[in-house]
Amino acid sequence: MILLVDFIFARRDICNFIEVKIRFTLQAPICSFDAKNAVLCPKCESKLESGAITSDDVDAAIKLAQLGKKNKKIDKFSLASCKVIDGNYLLYLKEDDIMVIRQSRTLYRLIQSQFPGKIWLVETKASDKRLIEDLFFPTRVLSINEVWANHGNQKIKAVIAGKWTPKFPINLENAIEIVKNLRKQELVVEFEKARK
Ligand SMILES: [Zn+2]
Repeated sequence: MILLVDFIFARRDICNFIEVKIRFTLQAPICSFDAKNAVLCPKCESKLESGAITSDDVDAAIKLAQLGKKNKKIDKFSLASCKVIDGNYLLYLKEDDIMVIRQSRTLYRLIQSQFPGKIWLVETKASDKRLIEDLFFPTRVLSINEVWANHGNQKIKAVIAGKWTPKFPINLENAIEIVKNLRKQELVVEFEKARK
């Protein structure tokens, strides 16, 4: 009996040890420990106070870390930051993480369910072109070019494959607003086939 109890305790200790070793893997603007436990250590608290990170970063890190407790894929993500623009949540993730989410509708829905507004997955170090492609995923962007408008202002023109239909999955106004906010660029969206 004593042996059995010892065994159970020993096993639990080993599990705890392994958990500590492999669990804290989500990379986020705050420590993994803070994100998992929804607290801020003095170091992260001062990062927040100094403005090095925002409360949106903290909230998103905690949300993903909670999901990561039950989902190994999410637990391996690297969240660089989260920006909220007009109720849209831009999650800055690594390219690989975005690929993983795009391969699973269930995973996408799981993450989306934690945020009160639409989530947009964008690459941490995206060029203007890549940012627009990310925003318009899963639709195909045929071309992205800088164009000069009449009054001398530069705009970015994106041409989307096919034609616009009421089922078009991307909110154009939101995408345009996001590009304006993040890159100070005016985005013009055109479709390959004109609307009839
Ligand atoms: Zn911390």
